[in-house]
Amino acid sequence: MPTTVDTLAPLHADMTAWRRDIHAHPELGFQESRTADRVAALLQACGIEVTRGVGRTGVVGTLKLGSSPRRIGLRADMDALPMQEGNTFAHRSTSPGRMHACGHDGHTAMLMGAAVQLARSKAFDGTVHFIFQPAEEGLGGARAMIDDGLFTRFPCDSIFGMHNRPKLAVGHFNVKSGPMMAGGAFFDVRITGRGSHGARPETSVDAALVAAQVAVSLQSIVARNVAPLDSAVLSVTRIHAGDAYNVIPQTAELGGTVRAFSREVMDAVGRHLKRVAEGTAAAFGATAEVDFRVLFAPTVNDPAQAEVAARVCTDLVGADKVDRHPPLIMASEDFSFMLEQVPGCYINIGNGLEEGGCEVHNPAYDFNDQALPLGAAFFVRLVETQLERQQTLTAG
Ligand SMILES: [Zn+2]
Ligand SMILES: [Zn+2]
Repeated sequence: MPTTVDTLAPLHADMTAWRRDIHAHPELGFQESRTADRVAALLQACGIEVTRGVGRTGVVGTLKLGSSPRRIGLRADMDALPMQEGNTFAHRSTSPGRMHACGHDGHTAMLMGAAVQLARSKAFDGTVHFIFQPAEEGLGGARAMIDDGLFTRFPCDSIFGMHNRPKLAVGHFNVKSGPMMAGGAFFDVRITGRGSHGARPETSVDAALVAAQVAVSLQSIVARNVAPLDSAVLSVTRIHAGDAYNVIPQTAELGGTVRAFSREVMDAVGRHLKRVAEGTAAAFGATAEVDFRVLFAPTVNDPAQAEVAARVCTDLVGADKVDRHPPLIMASEDFSFMLEQVPGCYINIGNGLEEGGCEVHNPAYDFNDQALPLGAAFFVRLVETQLERQQTLTAG
């Protein structure tokens, strides 16, 4: 019998308890030692082989059954945010200034539940890697795991992850083929001119004037260098120059962010940004140094893997509860770096319209425990689908 949401019902109370325990003990990126302890202990108790310290605080559980060479990776993130929780319920944060406000407690609990279920049911043939990632919230946890040999030590043919989505009803999934979430970069431009007395501009190269020109010129990039049907954002969000009313500043700094839905557009904007900043500065006799850092790659789902994920969701909840064409999301997600290495799909799971409808990163947010069996069932059914047991031929 293939797994349904009901199959996970006996684990619902356990998953809720794990989720609330993690919620009450939030840990920031690369500090998830207690959470990693809990995850590792549970996996080990189920007979799953555990590797600790992958990308510092990351945990990988490996469950191999049968003889098939097929391998799948399932990923959850474990970190909390540096913010004060506003909730007063019993499982509220016990750590001042730290809160699970993005639902990573729920993501971790769902993958723990899936691991327990798969270790019990053994209804697959192949290898499952359960990837518990640290530091998703802007600290580069996915990169750290990849740089630590994640996919050479634990090779995967495909990889899947999920994020809860407030304002999407519990029991609903969003599954999108192709680009899904934006990539994000930060940039800094440091301009050097020649300082002088404010009344003697002829002896200066005014870094403040150059910064203003650069800020204006950068706006030509999205307008003139990005194809109209590609989306990108370039925002100059900080400009700093000078301290005194009568001193023309020698240096100026400006910085900002770029968002785009493909690696090509992101990299192209970075190249144009360097050219425009350096060229504009040179036109005024100044120099510009540009630092362009891609913090998050665009999240791009492989069409074939998205099809598999959508089929699994449809089997679980019905086609009317699976949106195949949700709007693009301008926020970023560092699972994108894993998707650049291995084809896969990132999906959204409904966190609810009412109490679960509060947006992530809000002090009143909480993961909706009603979603736990749905997410766990997705992972289990996905493994049963991707690593399906071959029918053994019996003689006669
Ligand atoms: Zn977040
Ligand atoms: Zn998140």
